[in-house]
Amino acid sequence: MNTLSSPTLYENAILVINCGSSSVKFSLIHPKTGQTILSGLAECLLANDAVIKIKFDNEQYNQALDAPFDHQSALNVLVKYLHQFNLVTSISAVGHRVVHGGEKYSEPTLITEEVESAIESLAKLAPLHNPANLIGIKACQKAFAHLKQVAIFDTAFHQSMPEKAFIYGLPYDLYKQHGVRRYGFHGTSHYFVAKQAAELLNKPLTECNLISAHLGNGCSITVIKNGRSVDTSLGMTPVEGLMMGTRSGDVDAGIIFHLVEQLGYCVNDVVRLLNKKSGLLGVSQLSNDCRTLEEAMLSGNKQAELALTIFCYRIAKYIASFSASLTELDGLIFTGGIGENSSWVREKVIEQLSLLNFNVSDEKNQKARFGKSGNIAADNARNCWVIATNEEWVIAEQTNNLLESSLQNNQQKNIKA
Ligand code: AMP
Repeated sequence: MNTLSSPTLYENAILVINCGSSSVKFSLIHPKTGQTILSGLAECLLANDAVIKIKFDNEQYNQALDAPFDHQSALNVLVKYLHQFNLVTSISAVGHRVVHGGEKYSEPTLITEEVESAIESLAKLAPLHNPANLIGIKACQKAFAHLKQVAIFDTAFHQSMPEKAFIYGLPYDLYKQHGVRRYGFHGTSHYFVAKQAAELLNKPLTECNLISAHLGNGCSITVIKNGRSVDTSLGMTPVEGLMMGTRSGDVDAGIIFHLVEQLGYCVNDVVRLLNKKSGLLGVSQLSNDCRTLEEAMLSGNKQAELALTIFCYRIAKYIASFSASLTELDGLIFTGGIGENSSWVREKVIEQLSLLNFNVSDEKNQKARFGKSGNIAADNARNCWVIATNEEWVIAEQTNNLLESSLQNNQQKNIKA
Protein backbone atom coordinates (compact mmCIF):
# COMPACT_ATOMS: atom_id res chain seq x y z
CA MET A 1 0.00 0.00 0.00
CA ASN A 2 1.08 3.52 -0.81
CA THR A 3 2.40 5.76 1.96
CA LEU A 4 3.58 9.31 1.69
CA SER A 5 7.07 10.14 2.76
CA SER A 6 6.18 13.74 3.60
CA PRO A 7 2.79 14.45 5.18
CA THR A 8 3.55 18.19 5.01
CA LEU A 9 2.98 18.00 1.25
CA TYR A 10 -0.71 18.44 1.95
CA GLU A 11 -0.88 20.79 4.91
CA ASN A 12 -4.12 22.43 6.10
CA ALA A 13 -6.45 20.27 4.07
CA ILE A 14 -10.15 19.93 4.91
CA LEU A 15 -11.82 16.54 5.09
CA VAL A 16 -15.24 16.91 3.46
CA ILE A 17 -17.89 14.38 4.43
CA ASN A 18 -21.26 13.96 2.71
CA CYS A 19 -23.32 11.19 4.32
CA GLY A 20 -26.41 10.29 2.28
CA SER A 21 -29.09 7.77 3.18
CA SER A 22 -27.14 4.82 1.73
CA SER A 23 -23.80 6.35 0.74
CA VAL A 24 -20.89 8.38 2.07
CA LYS A 25 -18.95 10.65 -0.25
CA PHE A 26 -15.70 12.07 1.05
CA SER A 27 -12.74 14.07 -0.11
CA LEU A 28 -9.67 15.68 1.28
CA ILE A 29 -9.35 19.11 -0.29
CA HIS A 30 -7.03 22.02 -0.15
CA PRO A 31 -9.46 24.89 0.65
CA LYS A 32 -7.56 27.67 -1.14
CA THR A 33 -6.80 25.90 -4.41
CA GLY A 34 -9.56 23.30 -4.55
CA GLN A 35 -6.91 20.60 -5.13
CA THR A 36 -8.39 17.19 -4.32
CA ILE A 37 -5.84 15.08 -2.49
CA LEU A 38 -8.01 12.04 -1.85
CA SER A 39 -11.60 11.28 -2.77
CA GLY A 40 -14.01 8.41 -2.70
CA LEU A 41 -17.37 6.93 -2.11
CA ALA A 42 -18.90 4.21 0.03
CA GLU A 43 -22.09 2.94 -1.54
CA CYS A 44 -24.84 0.33 -1.18
CA LEU A 45 -24.63 0.89 2.57
CA LEU A 46 -26.88 -1.26 4.77
CA ALA A 47 -26.72 -4.03 2.14
CA ASN A 48 -24.21 -6.87 2.14
CA ASP A 49 -22.59 -5.72 -1.11
CA ALA A 50 -21.55 -2.41 0.50
CA VAL A 51 -18.22 -1.25 -0.81
CA ILE A 52 -15.83 1.65 -0.34
CA LYS A 53 -13.77 3.10 -3.23
CA ILE A 54 -10.91 5.48 -2.55
CA LYS A 55 -8.81 7.42 -5.05
CA PHE A 56 -5.42 8.66 -3.94
CA ASP A 57 -2.19 9.43 -5.73
CA ASN A 58 -3.50 8.11 -9.09
CA GLU A 59 -4.41 4.75 -7.55
CA GLN A 60 -7.86 3.32 -6.86
CA TYR A 61 -8.48 1.22 -3.73
CA ASN A 62 -11.70 -0.80 -3.45
CA GLN A 63 -12.69 -2.70 -0.35
CA ALA A 64 -15.86 -4.58 0.59
CA LEU A 65 -17.24 -3.40 3.92
CA ASP A 66 -17.72 -5.66 6.92
CA ALA A 67 -21.02 -6.09 8.77
CA PRO A 68 -23.01 -4.09 9.71
CA PHE A 69 -22.18 -2.45 6.33
CA ASP A 70 -23.21 0.96 7.67
CA HIS A 71 -21.93 4.55 7.60
CA GLN A 72 -19.79 3.93 10.67
CA SER A 73 -18.13 0.88 9.01
CA ALA A 74 -17.39 2.99 5.94
CA LEU A 75 -15.89 5.84 7.95
CA ASN A 76 -13.80 3.38 9.98
CA VAL A 77 -12.25 2.11 6.73
CA LEU A 78 -11.69 5.68 5.50
CA VAL A 79 -9.90 6.56 8.75
CA LYS A 80 -7.73 3.45 8.42
CA TYR A 81 -6.69 4.49 4.91
CA LEU A 82 -6.03 8.09 5.98
CA HIS A 83 -3.63 6.74 8.61
CA GLN A 84 -1.98 4.40 6.11
CA PHE A 85 -1.52 7.20 3.59
CA ASN A 86 -0.02 9.33 6.35
CA LEU A 87 -2.66 12.00 5.77
CA VAL A 88 -4.20 12.44 9.22
CA THR A 89 -1.82 15.22 10.21
CA SER A 90 -2.70 17.07 7.00
CA ILE A 91 -6.31 17.52 8.08
CA SER A 92 -7.03 20.84 9.75
CA ALA A 93 -10.81 20.40 10.15
CA VAL A 94 -13.78 18.40 8.96
CA GLY A 95 -16.59 20.00 6.91
CA HIS A 96 -19.90 18.17 6.78
CA ARG A 97 -22.62 18.64 4.22
CA VAL A 98 -25.83 18.79 6.23
CA VAL A 99 -29.00 18.74 4.19
CA HIS A 100 -31.46 20.62 6.38
CA GLY A 101 -30.65 23.64 8.50
CA GLY A 102 -34.24 24.89 8.71
CA GLU A 103 -34.58 28.63 9.35
CA LYS A 104 -31.98 28.59 12.07
CA TYR A 105 -28.85 28.14 9.99
CA SER A 106 -27.98 30.42 7.10
CA GLU A 107 -24.20 30.32 7.60
CA PRO A 108 -21.45 27.70 8.03
CA THR A 109 -21.69 26.64 11.66
CA LEU A 110 -19.22 25.19 14.13
CA ILE A 111 -20.71 21.93 15.39
CA THR A 112 -21.44 21.96 19.12
CA GLU A 113 -23.79 19.78 21.18
CA GLU A 114 -26.49 22.38 20.65
CA VAL A 115 -26.02 22.30 16.87
CA GLU A 116 -26.14 18.50 16.88
CA SER A 117 -29.47 18.60 18.76
CA ALA A 118 -30.79 21.12 16.24
CA ILE A 119 -29.75 18.90 13.30
CA GLU A 120 -31.47 16.00 15.05
CA SER A 121 -34.68 17.92 15.61
CA LEU A 122 -34.63 19.10 11.96
CA ALA A 123 -34.71 15.43 10.92
CA LYS A 124 -38.49 15.73 10.82
CA LEU A 125 -38.00 17.91 7.73
CA ALA A 126 -35.33 15.65 6.15
CA PRO A 127 -35.87 12.17 7.60
CA LEU A 128 -33.61 10.40 5.09
CA HIS A 129 -30.72 12.83 5.26
CA ASN A 130 -30.22 14.63 8.58
CA PRO A 131 -29.91 11.38 10.62
CA ALA A 132 -27.26 10.12 8.15
CA ASN A 133 -25.44 13.48 8.36
CA LEU A 134 -25.37 13.12 12.17
CA ILE A 135 -23.85 9.64 11.92
CA GLY A 136 -21.03 11.16 9.86
CA ILE A 137 -20.52 13.93 12.41
CA LYS A 138 -20.39 11.54 15.36
CA ALA A 139 -18.07 9.11 13.58
CA CYS A 140 -15.65 11.94 12.73
CA GLN A 141 -15.78 13.30 16.27
CA LYS A 142 -14.72 9.86 17.47
CA ALA A 143 -11.98 9.45 14.88
CA PHE A 144 -10.66 13.03 15.00
CA ALA A 145 -11.43 14.23 18.52
CA HIS A 146 -8.80 16.97 18.19
CA LEU A 147 -10.35 18.54 15.07
CA LYS A 148 -13.11 21.12 14.73
CA GLN A 149 -16.18 19.99 12.80
CA VAL A 150 -18.21 22.43 10.73
CA ALA A 151 -21.71 22.03 9.24
CA ILE A 152 -22.42 23.49 5.81
CA PHE A 153 -26.18 23.42 5.25
CA ASP A 154 -27.65 22.71 1.82
CA THR A 155 -30.57 25.00 2.66
CA ALA A 156 -28.42 27.92 3.86
CA PHE A 157 -27.99 29.78 0.56
CA HIS A 158 -31.77 29.97 0.15
CA GLN A 159 -32.41 31.61 3.50
CA SER A 160 -32.28 34.97 1.70
CA MET A 161 -35.56 34.22 -0.13
CA PRO A 162 -38.34 36.72 0.56
CA GLU A 163 -41.62 35.56 2.14
CA LYS A 164 -43.44 35.78 -1.19
CA ALA A 165 -41.17 33.00 -2.47
CA PHE A 166 -41.12 30.72 0.56
CA ILE A 167 -44.66 30.85 1.96
CA TYR A 168 -47.10 28.32 0.48
CA GLY A 169 -50.75 29.18 -0.15
CA LEU A 170 -51.69 27.25 2.99
CA PRO A 171 -52.96 28.40 6.40
CA TYR A 172 -50.18 30.62 7.79
CA ASP A 173 -50.25 28.76 11.14
CA LEU A 174 -48.70 25.74 9.42
CA TYR A 175 -45.66 27.88 8.78
CA LYS A 176 -45.59 29.59 12.16
CA GLN A 177 -46.21 26.48 14.25
CA HIS A 178 -44.71 23.69 12.15
CA GLY A 179 -42.19 25.30 9.80
CA VAL A 180 -44.13 24.34 6.67
CA ARG A 181 -42.46 26.55 4.02
CA ARG A 182 -40.09 26.35 1.07
CA TYR A 183 -36.48 25.79 2.15
CA GLY A 184 -34.84 24.76 -1.12
CA PHE A 185 -31.77 22.53 -1.51
CA HIS A 186 -28.59 22.29 -3.67
CA GLY A 187 -27.68 25.68 -2.13
CA THR A 188 -23.95 24.94 -2.08
CA SER A 189 -23.95 24.05 -5.78
CA HIS A 190 -25.98 27.11 -6.86
CA TYR A 191 -23.70 29.33 -4.80
CA PHE A 192 -20.53 27.82 -6.31
CA VAL A 193 -21.60 28.19 -9.93
CA ALA A 194 -22.95 31.70 -9.32
CA LYS A 195 -19.55 32.68 -7.91
CA GLN A 196 -17.86 31.20 -11.00
CA ALA A 197 -20.24 33.12 -13.29
CA ALA A 198 -19.41 36.34 -11.40
CA GLU A 199 -15.74 35.72 -12.15
CA LEU A 200 -16.55 35.19 -15.83
CA LEU A 201 -18.55 38.43 -15.82
CA ASN A 202 -15.66 40.13 -14.05
CA LYS A 203 -17.87 41.74 -11.42
CA PRO A 204 -18.67 41.06 -7.77
CA LEU A 205 -21.26 38.37 -7.09
CA THR A 206 -23.35 41.01 -5.29
CA GLU A 207 -23.90 42.71 -8.66
CA CYS A 208 -24.89 39.53 -10.52
CA ASN A 209 -28.39 38.47 -11.54
CA LEU A 210 -28.50 34.85 -12.64
CA ILE A 211 -30.66 31.80 -13.11
CA SER A 212 -28.91 28.58 -12.21
CA ALA A 213 -30.12 25.13 -13.31
CA HIS A 214 -28.65 22.24 -11.32
CA LEU A 215 -29.64 19.19 -13.36
CA GLY A 216 -28.51 15.85 -11.98
CA ASN A 217 -30.43 12.96 -10.53
CA GLY A 218 -31.98 15.64 -8.33
CA CYS A 219 -32.78 18.90 -10.15
CA SER A 220 -33.45 22.46 -9.14
CA ILE A 221 -33.51 25.97 -10.56
CA THR A 222 -32.52 28.96 -8.46
CA VAL A 223 -32.92 32.62 -9.27
CA ILE A 224 -30.14 34.79 -7.89
CA LYS A 225 -30.60 38.54 -7.48
CA ASN A 226 -27.58 40.62 -6.53
CA GLY A 227 -25.78 37.43 -5.57
CA ARG A 228 -28.50 36.11 -3.26
CA SER A 229 -31.04 33.35 -3.78
CA VAL A 230 -34.51 34.89 -4.14
CA ASP A 231 -36.43 31.82 -5.28
CA THR A 232 -35.82 28.16 -5.97
CA SER A 233 -37.81 25.24 -7.32
CA LEU A 234 -37.25 22.65 -4.58
CA GLY A 235 -39.57 23.17 -1.68
CA MET A 236 -40.03 22.06 1.90
CA THR A 237 -38.88 18.65 0.67
CA PRO A 238 -36.88 17.64 -2.43
CA VAL A 239 -40.01 16.50 -4.31
CA GLU A 240 -41.22 19.86 -5.58
CA GLY A 241 -40.28 21.65 -8.77
CA LEU A 242 -38.67 20.15 -11.85
CA MET A 243 -39.17 16.59 -12.99
CA MET A 244 -36.13 14.62 -11.75
CA GLY A 245 -34.53 11.19 -12.15
CA THR A 246 -37.06 9.36 -9.99
CA ARG A 247 -38.93 12.25 -8.33
CA SER A 248 -42.10 13.65 -9.84
CA GLY A 249 -41.54 17.36 -9.24
CA ASP A 250 -44.72 19.46 -9.24
CA VAL A 251 -47.96 17.50 -9.37
CA ASP A 252 -51.53 18.50 -8.60
CA ALA A 253 -51.89 17.76 -4.84
CA GLY A 254 -55.37 16.45 -5.68
CA ILE A 255 -53.72 13.46 -7.39
CA ILE A 256 -52.60 12.28 -3.96
CA PHE A 257 -56.21 12.22 -2.69
CA HIS A 258 -57.21 10.34 -5.82
CA LEU A 259 -54.44 7.76 -5.28
CA VAL A 260 -55.51 7.26 -1.66
CA GLU A 261 -59.27 7.45 -1.95
CA GLN A 262 -59.85 5.81 -5.33
CA LEU A 263 -56.82 3.61 -5.95
CA GLY A 264 -56.14 2.33 -2.41
CA TYR A 265 -52.64 3.77 -1.91
CA CYS A 266 -51.37 4.19 1.65
CA VAL A 267 -49.07 7.05 2.68
CA ASN A 268 -45.92 4.96 2.22
CA ASP A 269 -47.02 3.94 -1.27
CA VAL A 270 -47.49 7.59 -2.22
CA VAL A 271 -44.12 8.59 -0.75
CA ARG A 272 -42.40 5.83 -2.71
CA LEU A 273 -44.29 6.63 -5.89
CA LEU A 274 -43.40 10.33 -5.84
CA ASN A 275 -39.77 9.86 -4.73
CA LYS A 276 -38.61 6.61 -6.29
CA LYS A 277 -40.88 5.64 -9.16
CA SER A 278 -41.70 8.89 -10.93
CA GLY A 279 -39.77 11.46 -12.95
CA LEU A 280 -37.69 10.32 -15.93
CA LEU A 281 -37.95 6.71 -14.73
CA GLY A 282 -41.71 6.81 -14.26
CA VAL A 283 -42.55 8.38 -17.61
CA SER A 284 -39.98 6.48 -19.69
CA GLN A 285 -40.66 3.17 -17.91
CA LEU A 286 -37.04 2.50 -18.74
CA SER A 287 -34.46 4.37 -16.67
CA ASN A 288 -33.75 7.44 -14.54
CA ASP A 289 -30.42 7.85 -16.31
CA CYS A 290 -30.35 10.63 -18.90
CA ARG A 291 -27.64 8.88 -20.97
CA THR A 292 -29.71 5.69 -21.29
CA LEU A 293 -32.76 7.72 -22.26
CA GLU A 294 -30.94 9.75 -24.90
CA GLU A 295 -29.60 6.56 -26.47
CA ALA A 296 -33.04 4.94 -26.36
CA MET A 297 -34.66 8.02 -27.90
CA LEU A 298 -32.13 8.03 -30.73
CA SER A 299 -33.03 4.42 -31.49
CA GLY A 300 -36.71 5.30 -31.67
CA ASN A 301 -38.02 4.72 -28.12
CA LYS A 302 -41.04 7.06 -27.93
CA GLN A 303 -41.47 6.74 -24.17
CA ALA A 304 -37.87 7.87 -23.60
CA GLU A 305 -38.45 10.80 -25.96
CA LEU A 306 -41.60 11.78 -24.08
CA ALA A 307 -39.79 11.69 -20.71
CA LEU A 308 -36.94 13.86 -22.00
CA THR A 309 -39.33 16.26 -23.75
CA ILE A 310 -41.33 16.81 -20.55
CA PHE A 311 -38.08 17.16 -18.59
CA CYS A 312 -36.81 19.96 -20.87
CA TYR A 313 -40.16 21.74 -21.15
CA ARG A 314 -40.45 21.89 -17.36
CA ILE A 315 -36.95 23.35 -17.07
CA ALA A 316 -37.72 26.02 -19.68
CA LYS A 317 -41.04 26.81 -17.98
CA TYR A 318 -39.35 27.32 -14.60
CA ILE A 319 -36.62 29.51 -16.08
CA ALA A 320 -39.22 31.68 -17.82
CA SER A 321 -41.36 31.95 -14.70
CA PHE A 322 -38.35 32.87 -12.54
CA SER A 323 -37.62 35.83 -14.80
CA ALA A 324 -40.52 37.43 -12.85
CA SER A 325 -38.12 37.78 -9.89
CA LEU A 326 -35.60 39.89 -11.82
CA THR A 327 -35.37 43.20 -13.62
CA GLU A 328 -32.02 42.31 -15.16
CA LEU A 329 -30.51 38.97 -16.11
CA ASP A 330 -26.79 38.42 -16.70
CA GLY A 331 -27.25 34.85 -17.84
CA LEU A 332 -28.26 31.27 -17.31
CA ILE A 333 -26.05 28.54 -15.83
CA PHE A 334 -26.26 24.79 -16.49
CA THR A 335 -24.61 22.47 -13.98
CA GLY A 336 -24.94 18.95 -12.46
CA GLY A 337 -24.37 15.65 -14.33
CA ILE A 338 -27.00 16.43 -16.98
CA GLY A 339 -26.42 20.19 -17.16
CA GLU A 340 -22.67 19.70 -17.57
CA ASN A 341 -22.87 16.92 -20.16
CA SER A 342 -26.09 16.73 -22.11
CA SER A 343 -25.88 19.07 -25.09
CA TRP A 344 -29.25 17.69 -26.23
CA VAL A 345 -31.04 18.73 -23.03
CA ARG A 346 -29.41 22.17 -23.07
CA GLU A 347 -30.39 22.78 -26.68
CA LYS A 348 -33.99 21.70 -26.08
CA VAL A 349 -34.26 23.97 -23.04
CA ILE A 350 -32.69 27.00 -24.69
CA GLU A 351 -34.71 26.75 -27.91
CA GLN A 352 -37.88 27.20 -25.81
CA LEU A 353 -36.52 30.43 -24.30
CA SER A 354 -36.06 32.58 -27.39
CA LEU A 355 -38.47 35.20 -25.98
CA LEU A 356 -35.87 35.86 -23.27
CA ASN A 357 -33.23 36.25 -25.99
CA PHE A 358 -31.57 32.90 -25.30
CA ASN A 359 -30.08 31.20 -28.32
CA VAL A 360 -27.53 28.40 -28.40
CA SER A 361 -24.44 28.01 -30.57
CA ASP A 362 -24.37 24.39 -31.77
CA GLU A 363 -20.62 24.34 -31.96
CA LYS A 364 -20.03 25.78 -28.47
CA ASN A 365 -22.76 23.56 -27.02
CA GLN A 366 -21.12 20.39 -28.34
CA LYS A 367 -17.73 21.44 -27.04
CA ALA A 368 -18.90 22.16 -23.47
CA ARG A 369 -19.10 18.57 -22.25
CA PHE A 370 -17.20 16.09 -20.08
CA GLY A 371 -15.63 18.62 -17.76
CA LYS A 372 -15.25 21.43 -20.31
CA SER A 373 -17.03 24.61 -19.24
CA GLY A 374 -17.88 27.62 -21.36
CA ASN A 375 -20.40 30.09 -22.69
CA ILE A 376 -22.61 28.26 -25.18
CA ALA A 377 -24.66 31.29 -26.27
CA ALA A 378 -24.86 32.18 -29.95
CA ASP A 379 -23.51 35.60 -30.96
CA ASN A 380 -25.67 38.47 -29.68
CA ALA A 381 -27.72 36.12 -27.48
CA ARG A 382 -27.93 36.24 -23.69
CA ASN A 383 -25.09 34.51 -21.79
CA CYS A 384 -25.57 30.84 -21.15
CA TRP A 385 -22.77 29.05 -19.34
CA VAL A 386 -21.97 25.43 -18.66
CA ILE A 387 -20.12 25.38 -15.33
CA ALA A 388 -18.98 22.24 -13.51
CA THR A 389 -20.16 22.35 -9.93
CA ASN A 390 -17.83 21.62 -7.01
CA GLU A 391 -19.79 21.46 -3.77
CA GLU A 392 -16.87 19.82 -1.97
CA TRP A 393 -14.64 22.78 -2.63
CA VAL A 394 -17.26 25.20 -1.25
CA ILE A 395 -17.57 23.07 1.89
CA ALA A 396 -13.78 23.01 2.30
CA GLU A 397 -13.46 26.75 1.66
CA GLN A 398 -16.30 27.74 4.01
CA THR A 399 -15.03 25.41 6.75
CA ASN A 400 -11.58 26.93 6.46
CA ASN A 401 -12.96 30.52 6.41
CA LEU A 402 -14.92 29.86 9.59
CA LEU A 403 -11.84 28.51 11.35
CA GLU A 404 -9.68 31.41 10.19
CA SER A 405 -12.19 34.02 11.31
CA SER A 406 -12.70 32.36 14.73
CA LEU A 407 -8.92 32.27 15.11
CA GLN A 408 -8.72 35.99 14.26
CA ASN A 409 -11.53 36.80 16.73
CA ASN A 410 -9.71 34.91 19.47
CA GLN A 411 -6.47 36.74 18.69
CA GLN A 412 -8.26 40.12 18.84
CA LYS A 413 -9.88 39.17 22.15
CA ASN A 414 -6.47 38.22 23.52
CA ILE A 415 -4.98 41.53 22.38
CA LYS A 416 -7.84 43.49 24.05
CA ALA A 417 -7.48 41.43 27.24
P1 AMP B 1 -25.51 13.86 -10.83
O1 AMP B 1 -26.67 13.53 -9.91
O2 AMP B 1 -25.17 15.32 -10.83
O3 AMP B 1 -24.32 12.97 -10.63
O4 AMP B 1 -26.02 13.56 -12.33
C1 AMP B 1 -26.46 12.29 -12.72
C2 AMP B 1 -27.16 12.42 -14.08
O5 AMP B 1 -26.24 12.97 -15.04
C3 AMP B 1 -27.64 11.10 -14.64
O6 AMP B 1 -28.98 11.24 -15.13
C4 AMP B 1 -26.70 10.86 -15.80
O7 AMP B 1 -27.31 10.14 -16.84
C5 AMP B 1 -26.43 12.28 -16.26
N1 AMP B 1 -25.25 12.32 -17.14
C6 AMP B 1 -23.96 12.10 -16.83
N2 AMP B 1 -23.20 12.14 -17.94
C7 AMP B 1 -24.04 12.39 -18.99
C8 AMP B 1 -23.87 12.55 -20.40
N3 AMP B 1 -22.69 12.43 -20.97
N4 AMP B 1 -24.95 12.81 -21.16
C9 AMP B 1 -26.17 12.91 -20.58
N5 AMP B 1 -26.40 12.78 -19.26
C10 AMP B 1 -25.35 12.52 -18.47
